Amino acid sequence: MTTSGKVEIPQWVWDFHGHICPFMPIGYRMGQIAMRELGISHIGDHGAFGLSEMGVGHPQTCMIDGFMAVTGCTYGKLMMERLNYGKVACILFVPGKGAIRVYLKSEFQDELGKQEFFVYRKKGIEPSQVPADVVKKVVDLVMNASESDMFKIEKLPDFTFSRPKGSFAKMKCSKCGEYVFERYVRMVDGKPECIPCSDYNQTWVNVLKGMQ
Ligand SMILES: [Zn+2]
Ligand SMILES: [Zn+2]
Repeated sequence: MTTSGKVEIPQWVWDFHGHICPFMPIGYRMGQIAMRELGISHIGDHGAFGLSEMGVGHPQTCMIDGFMAVTGCTYGKLMMERLNYGKVACILFVPGKGAIRVYLKSEFQDELGKQEFFVYRKKGIEPSQVPADVVKKVVDLVMNASESDMFKIEKLPDFTFSRPKGSFAKMKCSKCGEYVFERYVRMVDGKPECIPCSDYNQTWVNVLKGMQ
């Protein structure tokens, strides 16, 4: 399927995402807007952080792939993070330049929700199995709607985010013999152990599994 509209999304981004859906282009547009507002272009190294307000257990998270692709703030480079607020919004933060938050307007979410595409999705049908004309209709909508109809754009003057300083230091787990980067080593009876060997309870993993 070819897509056209106010935004041009390179084919590789659709291929990377894997299917055609409305939320990947929404994230792509959010990233484009935030980059324009901050006066930056695609980040090759580590110059900006992307923060999605998405959580887990809702289907709009496709947005993150579009946002990562356009900004270059990828999970692999640790330049992307989820804030788990359960909101359809992304923040782009450039240290020294500021932060922009882009939210998919509630009115637009209401409009979007009426699309036939979501009738299929609510039945558990995957985007690639939804009839092509139904997909095209919803994708055209998010590719062509005006920025002011779709997005609330705001500056976050006090926003800040950072990571611990990178370190290559690692130790061997005394039980399984595998290397563990130092900050993840648990000391058990004075010996270094990895997280699985030490039965350490990682609260955030339980959250991801829906256990908490
Ligand atoms: Zn998707
Ligand atoms: Zn181990």
